[in-house]
This record gives sequence, C-alpha cells and structure tokens, in this order.
Amino acid sequence: MVAELQVKNRPAIAAVPNEPALSVQGLNVRFGAQTVLSNVQMDLEDGRYACLLGESGSGKSTLLAAIAGLIKPQAGSIRLRGQNVFTAGGLQISPEKRGIGMVFQDAALWPHLRVIDNVLFPLRAQGLPVDRERAMRLLEKMNIPATAAKRKPHELSGGQRQRVAIARAIIARPRLVLLDEPLSAVDQGVREEIRYFLRTLFREEGIAALHVTHDPSEAFYLGQHVGVLHSGHLEQWDQPEKLFRFPASENVARLSGSVR
Ligand code: ADP
Ligand code: MG
Repeated sequence: MVAELQVKNRPAIAAVPNEPALSVQGLNVRFGAQTVLSNVQMDLEDGRYACLLGESGSGKSTLLAAIAGLIKPQAGSIRLRGQNVFTAGGLQISPEKRGIGMVFQDAALWPHLRVIDNVLFPLRAQGLPVDRERAMRLLEKMNIPATAAKRKPHELSGGQRQRVAIARAIIARPRLVLLDEPLSAVDQGVREEIRYFLRTLFREEGIAALHVTHDPSEAFYLGQHVGVLHSGHLEQWDQPEKLFRFPASENVARLSGSVR
C-alpha cells in the first residue's frame, strides 16, 4: 500500500511511479460561445519546473483553474501522477483532493493568521503532522527573519508576503504547484530575489511547478521546460533551448528572442 494513503485526510490520489506529475490531453474550455483553450496537450515530468508564457487573455489562468479543478473543461482529460482527475466522461475530482499547491499574483494570505500559521495552514487542513521546524526552515531559506514568523501579513512587505505564500504552497510537499504570475505585483529588485528562491527551492524539494507569466526573461530563467500559449493554443512545449533553436511559430521566435 502506498504509505501516504495511510495518513489521515491525505488527498485521495495515490502516486503511480514513473508517471508525469501532470498530463493534459486534448483539453478544451469554452465560456459561452468563446473558445478559451483549444486542444491543449502537455506532460510535465515529476520534479521539473515548467514555465508557460502567454500574453494577457491567452488563457493561462483558465488552464491553471482547469488543472486545479476550479472550472470544468468541455473536452479532454487531466492526469496527476498517472491518476485521472478530470475526464470528459464525467470524472471531476474536487480541488482539495488533487494535492496541488497554488500561488497567485497577490499573496492571498489569511489576514487574521500570523505568518507561521499561514505557512502551517495546509498541514492542519489536511490533517498532517504540524511541522513547525520545516515551516521555519522554509521561511529562513527565503530570507524571512524568524521574528517575522509571529507577525501578521499586513506587517510584512509585499515581497515578503509573496515568499510566505510560496512557503505555504510547498509545506505539505504537494506533487505539483501552480503559480499564476507570482512575480507580477512585486518590484524589479524583489522580483529577481524571489526568482532565485523559486529556482533553488523547487529544485531542492523536487516539487514540480507550472508557473505562468507574460515575461520571457522570467520563463527562460526559471523554466526547465517552457511553453507558449497563444489565443488558447499551446504553440510549443519543450526544453527551453528547443524554443530558441527550433521555434514552432513566429510568436515563439519573438518570445524566445531567436532570429529566423
Ligand atoms: P490570461 O490568464 O492568460 O490573461 P485568462 O485565462 O484569464 O487569460 O482568460 C482567457 C480568456 O477567457 C479571456 O478572453 C477572458 O476574458 C476569458 N475568461 C476567463 N475567465 C472567464 C469566465 N469565468 N467567464 C467568461 N470568460 C472568461
Ligand atoms: Mg491570468
């Protein structure tokens, strides 16, 4: 039996070895008459950091919402570590059972909870052991002073709040973390610092990430795998050097800075 199934309230999805962290097949999403995602197909290997580039309105947040289980696509399937969580046939596993961590543009911390309790929240919510040491270690790794752990979110800077949100997203060692433009609302200098933390921490922890952004430099700095979404079509999804050397479209060539 898979060990994690024995933990109380652990998400109902068991890990299948050697399966991709995420596999999306033929995904279609419509809002009314508007098709927002068309036949999106992507695999993300376990433990890899992937970035998806796309301009505003290209469907990035919609794709993350579908993977998280917050909206229901019209066609296709979504698998997490080899387990179906959505199929067009009717299966729709609820968001809290998908074992996914999320980071949004605004940190979206619980305002009434201290920083440490924000970070510990997912462990308590899932009935997992409350590991304060791990929480403090994650904060320390992201250069949040120990004294800040007792503060409320409004006492922190925007960049610090975003780092707390990242710690909260990974504390329970989810199989996958979705990050929706997590650096768009912070200043340039802070953005570079947080980029660095994302890059080192996720690789150290071995947690797969799907990070969406409209900033090519961010995508190519962070992404071990990079995709380009344009008007709901995934134009390319590959290793970063492939986008540069063999861009699948004009749009990919422009974003990767390659010259045709
Ligand atoms: P991005 O995150 O890349 O900026 P979105 O996924 O938010 O793009 O939006 C893609 C398109 O889908 C946009 O045209 C947007 O207006 C539309 N859209 C997003 N969410 C909804 C919704 N809940 N209802 C109707 N249309 C929506
Ligand atoms: Mg968006």
